[in-house]
Amino acid sequence: MDHIVYIGIGSNLGDRLWNCRRAVELLAQYEAMKVVRVSPWYESEAIPVDGGERGPQPWFINGAIEIRTTLSASELLAALQGIEREMGRELPRSKGAPRTIDLDILLYGGAVINEVDLIIPHPELAKRSFVLAPLCDIAPHAVEALSGHSVKQLLQNLEAGFRVQAHTDSNSRLCAVAHIAQAQGRCNASR
Ligand code: AMP
Repeated sequence: MDHIVYIGIGSNLGDRLWNCRRAVELLAQYEAMKVVRVSPWYESEAIPVDGGERGPQPWFINGAIEIRTTLSASELLAALQGIEREMGRELPRSKGAPRTIDLDILLYGGAVINEVDLIIPHPELAKRSFVLAPLCDIAPHAVEALSGHSVKQLLQNLEAGFRVQAHTDSNSRLCAVAHIAQAQGRCNASR
């Protein structure tokens, strides 16, 4: 059976946009996955780690995709980690270090999974504008199973936080927004 899955993509090291696009290409090469939708790309401020002691981190490029897959959630996680390794992401992962590519399973159908190495819905989904903004572009009505809220509702409920803006070089149809409130407004306006 095909599962409808949303994957979050991020990069803040090297050619960030190329990395994100390459990850989508690599995902599309799997026979067991079909890439159905790709969001516009956003740029987002890195969340400071260690109280900001390490200084400012490079901004991320973020996006989200919808896939259909016959893989189980754990098989899919293994595939995503394989792509991260192939793209040179350093392991073990040091928290907050810049990363060539970061691939997260955001939603796996309506599944709720709570395993040591896999939590679905992604535990940070509802808190992160840089995940919700692109996800809202491709799946505003997808439901986060724990809260029962749609992606659009979660984005609307977010407090203003870290900055996220459309990546204007890659999304000529979008005008830059400088604040999450504007990303929220755009999502509302487009649906
Ligand atoms: P990160 O450094 O943010 O990419 O976190 C990667 C770790 O999160 C890996 O050890 C994964 O096993 C774990 N993880 C837990 N839930 C998820 C999820 N939904 N998607 C991707 N990684 C996850």
